[in-house]
Amino acid sequence: MGSREGLKDKKRIIVKIGSSCITHSETGALNLTKLEILVRELCDLKNMGKDVILVSSGAIAVGRQTIGFHHRPKNVAEKQACAAIGQAQLMMIYQKLFSEYGHQAAQVLMTKNTMVDNLSRKNASNTFEELLLLGAIPVVNENDTVATYEIQFGDNDMLSAIVTALVDADMLILLSDIEGLYTDDPRENPDARFIDTVAQLDDELMRMGKGSGSDVGTGGMATKLSAAKVATAAGADMVIASGEDFHVLHRIVRGDKVGTLFQAQPQEEFHLIDILEDGD
Ligand code: GLU
Repeated sequence: MGSREGLKDKKRIIVKIGSSCITHSETGALNLTKLEILVRELCDLKNMGKDVILVSSGAIAVGRQTIGFHHRPKNVAEKQACAAIGQAQLMMIYQKLFSEYGHQAAQVLMTKNTMVDNLSRKNASNTFEELLLLGAIPVVNENDTVATYEIQFGDNDMLSAIVTALVDADMLILLSDIEGLYTDDPRENPDARFIDTVAQLDDELMRMGKGSGSDVGTGGMATKLSAAKVATAAGADMVIASGEDFHVLHRIVRGDKVGTLFQAQPQEEFHLIDILEDGD
């Protein structure tokens, strides 16, 4: 079917990176070498004429490191304070790195309310369109500084799928410490097989998403599969791949067999608002 071939022609690409991909595991501090590679890859996608949106986690992880917390922030107020510090730092670094390659990063922070409220959703959609028209690279995160449990997306996997649907992107790439989908947890079952392409995301596959990822971010496989349901139903292809080496981005877009590809399964009756109301 040449499903990977078609990835070359994608026009509007969302890339989501997990906190664990951009921080050093030993210290929790930002991995600047990796960030430089990430930004260079994204700028090159722009230079190919594609619209690019980055959904970047890391606000809390970076803030936590700056403040000198050795533990994960426990309560909402601690998380919000860490995010306020970390988000500003992250953006400062993104602005600097993108501008080195002649591109402009733009911060977009959202809560679940932004999407549930019809007017706010329309405003957000207009802002994305305008930014893309201007050639900017929106850098999106949940607005952790104000988001509490009632208005949280919960994790950036789902946020990135929702942004994919909102801006009608044709591809979503999730990069984290998970290489892709296996038939079982490869750390526990040596017979677990890697799944290269998923044409139909059925209930059996959804059950394979058990077990979670790392200590740093929030998303495990289950949240990635929920994101895949939304993104593919909205008409986008989605790839889950390891964010160990961000050079993987041009390989994915070139159509190389890396990670797991979830093929778009556009649904005529797809309404973003239904997903948000289901909380899933
Ligand atoms: N919004 C959180 C942060 O930037 C991350 C959430 C996630 O990784 O899913 O720290």
